[in-house]
Amino acid sequence: RAADIECALVVLGSGPGGYTAAFRAADLGVDTVLVERYATLGGVCLNVGCIPSKALLHAAEVIDEAAAMAAHGIDFGAPKIDLAKLRDFKNKVVGKLTGGLAGMAKQRKVRTVQGTGRFVSPHEMEVKTSDGVKLIRFEQAIIAAGSQAVHLPAFPWDDPRVMDSTGALALEDVPGKLLVVGGGIIGLEMATVYAALGSAVTVVEFMDQLIPGADADLVKPLAQRLGKKLKGVHLKTKVVEAKAGKQGIEVKYEGESIPETTLFDRVLVAVGRTPNGKAIGAEQAGVKVTERGFIEVDTQMRTNVPHIYAIGDLVGQPMLAHKATHEARVAAEVVAGMKSHFDARVIPSVAYTDPEIAWVGVTEREAREKGLKVGVGKFPWAASGRALGIDRTEGFTKLLFDEATHRVIGGGIVGPRAGDLIGEVALAIEMGAEAADIALTIHPHPTLSETIAMAAEVYEGTVTDLY
Ligand code: FAD
Repeated sequence: RAADIECALVVLGSGPGGYTAAFRAADLGVDTVLVERYATLGGVCLNVGCIPSKALLHAAEVIDEAAAMAAHGIDFGAPKIDLAKLRDFKNKVVGKLTGGLAGMAKQRKVRTVQGTGRFVSPHEMEVKTSDGVKLIRFEQAIIAAGSQAVHLPAFPWDDPRVMDSTGALALEDVPGKLLVVGGGIIGLEMATVYAALGSAVTVVEFMDQLIPGADADLVKPLAQRLGKKLKGVHLKTKVVEAKAGKQGIEVKYEGESIPETTLFDRVLVAVGRTPNGKAIGAEQAGVKVTERGFIEVDTQMRTNVPHIYAIGDLVGQPMLAHKATHEARVAAEVVAGMKSHFDARVIPSVAYTDPEIAWVGVTEREAREKGLKVGVGKFPWAASGRALGIDRTEGFTKLLFDEATHRVIGGGIVGPRAGDLIGEVALAIEMGAEAADIALTIHPHPTLSETIAMAAEVYEGTVTDLY
């Protein structure tokens, strides 16, 4: 059969991985086609992930902050929430970004095809479009088909009151009683939003800690604050049964900390994401897919088939947008004949909760498990004038140093804007900075960024007051 479209490169999926790869390849002169099943570009992150969640978290932050000001003599009263307007704002933010991507694709002459793609041979992909099935013949391919929320079978998914993160972000109403199953980043971000809007939120988490990937000390200030804002946080507990009833979703639990409430107006299941590797016909192209749906790649993002690459959520953890974009640039450059490879030492993680938790590089738990000889410099925000001024002294900044070289190898921050602050620690690790490099860098006063220099000073033993 003759191909409908011939190209040098086809990119499957237009999330942060896919659009970055397509744009970088086009900028390098590669004739590129981008295939996306949805009407807008941007994937999970822009449409139903990073971006809409942060727009809603901003609203939550303002509501909480305004309420907290009453203690400082400024009382705004109870918020009047117009849910339709809030939803509109979130949708506008998403629309601006996804619309921007469409323009950027056009500018670069990246051809976009809307439809569901499947490999049918090592050099061919079929795309089911509204206009029939199109055959694309390509020289090289980048798979960036991403991931989707895990739908635990214990829940009645045909009932609209049972939601995944996409449903929760749709913000159809503010449920009186909301159960969040899963105390990871996504679950807690959405719990924060709904609690600020007025829901009584119960969180159940199977593990013995919220945000299990982060060090326990970083999670503690968040757990304490959530303890006050939420109806309940229940660790080492799981939902074993959920039934759709007239009055709500009825759940049964098992575990060490059973919640009192068993009937909820809505339930958000946020227990992880699963890669889309199994639904793209990869095997027809000879690409190996693991049992769980991941695709294995080398440091050039190449799969076992040398002219086919894979990037983003479907090549493994951490499933984060900034990892996907970084891998995308590598893959596109290799496609264009450059000698790039993935060489990042660290990938930062952030929970945009209140307080935020951010960490990068080696965690204390990992250091212990691996028997690494590390020294820790920890600076409490209670000693930061800026943290006092915003009345948020529960935070702290800690840095982990290799005892042999005094080089920074990890860091964690908990407190407002921790996510914005962690970039400096990532840079320090990438540059091989020693404690003295960080401590002797003049940071602006009074800022929360000073706490990074102070953590290095604590490690060096040269700490001075920060007020
Ligand atoms: P995706 O963004 O998943 O994109 C894959 C695209 O491929 C999709 O558009 C999909 O429709 C398309 N596709 C799949 N199969 C086919 C097919 N057969 N044919 C055509 N198209 C196909 N990460 C962060 O770094 N920071 C955050 O704050 C953050 N917040 C998040 C909040 C939520 C609620 C969620 C769910 C995720 C969040 N993430 C965040 C994770 C982030 O969204 C992902 O890591 C990122 O989107 C992965 O990018 P990707 O390019 O690998 O795939």
